[in-house]
Formats: sequence, structure tokens, C-alpha cells
Amino acid sequence: MQSDHDFHPLTVLAVVDETADTRSFVLDVPPALADTFAYAAGQFVTVRVAVDGAEVVRCYSMSSSPDVGDPFTTTVKRVPGGVMSNWMLDTLTVGDAIDVLRPAGLFVLHDADVPVVAFAGGSGITPIFAILKTALATTTREVVLVDANRDADSVIFAEALARLEREHPGRLTVHRHLDAESGFLDVATLRGFVGDRTDAHFYVCGPTPYMDLVEEMLAGIGIRPGQLFIERFVTPGDVPAITESSHTDQVVLILAGKTTTVDYKVGDTLLDTARRAGLAPPFSCELGSCATCMAQLDEGSATLRINNALTPDEVDAGVVLTCQAIPTSRRVVVNYDA
Ligand SMILES: Cc1cc2nc3c(=O)[nH]c(=O)nc-3n(C[C@H](O)[C@H](O)[C@H](O)COP(=O)(O)OP(=O)(O)OC[C@H]3O[C@@H](n4cnc5c(N)ncnc54)[C@H](O)[C@@H]3O)c2cc1C
Repeated sequence: MQSDHDFHPLTVLAVVDETADTRSFVLDVPPALADTFAYAAGQFVTVRVAVDGAEVVRCYSMSSSPDVGDPFTTTVKRVPGGVMSNWMLDTLTVGDAIDVLRPAGLFVLHDADVPVVAFAGGSGITPIFAILKTALATTTREVVLVDANRDADSVIFAEALARLEREHPGRLTVHRHLDAESGFLDVATLRGFVGDRTDAHFYVCGPTPYMDLVEEMLAGIGIRPGQLFIERFVTPGDVPAITESSHTDQVVLILAGKTTTVDYKVGDTLLDTARRAGLAPPFSCELGSCATCMAQLDEGSATLRINNALTPDEVDAGVVLTCQAIPTSRRVVVNYDA
């Protein structure tokens, strides 16, 4: 039986050179998997490949929008020293198959009769490109894109964005910022792009310092959390080390109808604890993004080091990403079957 946690081999139909260090990969979703791979613009997939014999799992957003008839496409930028991105750019070619998990993610277009103001930096344009295509095709909302890049050669989707601007005069405005010409963006300049659109919905994806600056600017003009949607391209190096000391004694794990009780080892996540108990719990990205390792806390509490997948309501209801969850109560009951 197949579950949401199954990877599926998808064949690469086409490889498109976007810039010197970025390529798009068009993937073939066979009709039998159409429902599994149905997605909303802005979502991502989790990809698993073997690099030099070791399994590597990473997340990649779709740059395609299902609302404009795009084929299912991810766009990958080379990260210096990065395992998966270099492997994909240097090795993956038409006809190859890669293991892909069903789409996931909360970074999608939210309904509202207000402008869409998007801040993209570098490869952060990938999900934002999809979202703005959907906004233009399915709504009458004004769309403003601030697209920051190192230099003109590193701008991804430059031509496609210019075409969209021509096709939607007065509805889409693209502000292009190049560090090579004007240095890094600052709060005052970012503020200028918002203008009087303080009722807008804001979408942000890019390098952490850029996102921090955008968030600082938006907080400074009183933007409410409900107006702000953020995607973080987390990598293994971003996961903070576990420094807190825990008072947890016991972790009770409910998995596949079986209850297992183990002593807690300080520094372990709930996923580590389950694996140490000899169980085979579901997991994939181990970066707090794909939600494969999700479970319900029937008792006790935990903090999440990274949460790129759960809504505030889910967190309030006791749902945890076990790969990121550090228990904080004396006893914790983790229910994978809930
Ligand atoms: C939801 C989501 C969507 C994403 N979408 C996209 C997308 O559309 N396009 C895209 O290009 N990327 C995207 N990413 C980023 C992508 O998943 C990878 O993180 C990126 O490609 C780098 O992976 P890598 O294997 O090449 O690099 P890694 O091998 O993971 O290395 C990344 C960097 O971290 C450093 N590093 C690695 N391990 C450690 C460590 N233990 N300690 C300290 N530093 C370390 C490396 O030196 C390198 O600089 C997304 C990420 C997420 C979470």
C-alpha cells in the first residue's frame, strides 16, 4: 500500500539552463500519480538521491504554476560546496529518474482582495515566480515583485518576468535590484517599494540576511503577522545545535499500533529517540520542512528547533515535527498513529 510518505521515481523530461549556476528540471508526472503530485503554486517537493553511495534528501520548490498549465518544474541553484545542488546541476539529465515525495508546504497564495508584494532574493524567486503567475492568472490583484540578485547574469527568469510585465501592464511591476550596481538593499529602499500598500499580503523568500532586512522593514511599518508569508530555504548547516538541558525522563512512542517506552537521552530529538528505541518512524528531510515525520503529542510538550511546515493552529493543537522536536516536559507521549 502506498502512503503520503512514499517517494516516487519521476523522470526528467527536460533540463533548462536559466543562468550559469541555475537549472530548471521538468519532471514527468505520470497520469497515475496526478493526484499525488497535485500542488499549489509556491509548494515544494522533497527529493532523494544517492551521491557517492550516500543518501541525500533536500527540498526544492516548484517554479511552475499549475494554474497556467506549466509542466511540473523545479529550479535549482548551485550552492558552493553543496552536495545535492552540485549533483543535480552536474549529473542529472534528460531520461534520468529521481525519487520525489508528494508536494508540501504552506507558502502559497492566500485569498484576499489586497495587493501581492513579493520580495525575492537569488533562488528565492523560485516559489515566488510560481505564486505571482497564479496571482496574475486567477485574480485581479496588483502584484509587485522586488527581485534582488548579485548581478545581471545571476537573475533567474529575467525574460519570463519581463514578458509577464508586458502581458499585465499596470498589474505587475518588477523592481530589480543588483548588488553589483547599488550594493546591498537597506531598510529605507525596501520601504519605498511598499509605498502605500500597507494593507498588502507580503511574500518573502531569499538568503537569510535579506529576509531579516525585509522582516525588519515590514515590522517597522506595522505589518501584522497574518499579512506576512515566508519560506526559508533551510540547509543542514542552519539547524541550530541543541543547547537546552531537558528535564524529560521518559518518552512514550505510539507507532503502528504498538506502544514503546524509552528513557530520554538529553540532546535527542523525538525522532532520534524513536530511532534509538529501534523503531522505524517516518521521516525524510530532517530539516523541519517536509512534515513526513509529523506526530501528535498526546501528553507533554516540546519545542521545535525549526518549523517550516506546521501552521500555528497545528502547533497549538500539539502537532510536532519529530525531527525538530526537543521534549520539554518530564514525560512525553508521541503518537504517530493519530
Ligand atoms: C522548503 C524549501 C524549498 C527550497 N527550494 C529551493 C529551490 O527552489 N531552489 C533551490 O535552489 N534551493 C531550494 N532550497 C534549498 C535546497 O533544499 C538546498 O538546501 C540547497 O540546494 C543546498 O543543498 P546542497 O545539498 O547543495 O547543499 P548542502 O550540502 O546542504 O550544503 C549547503 C551549505 O551548507 C553548508 N553545510 C552543509 N552541512 C553543514 C553543516 N552540518 N554545518 C554547517 N554547514 C553546513 C555547506 O558548506 C553549504 O554551504 C529549498 C529548501 C527548502 C527547505
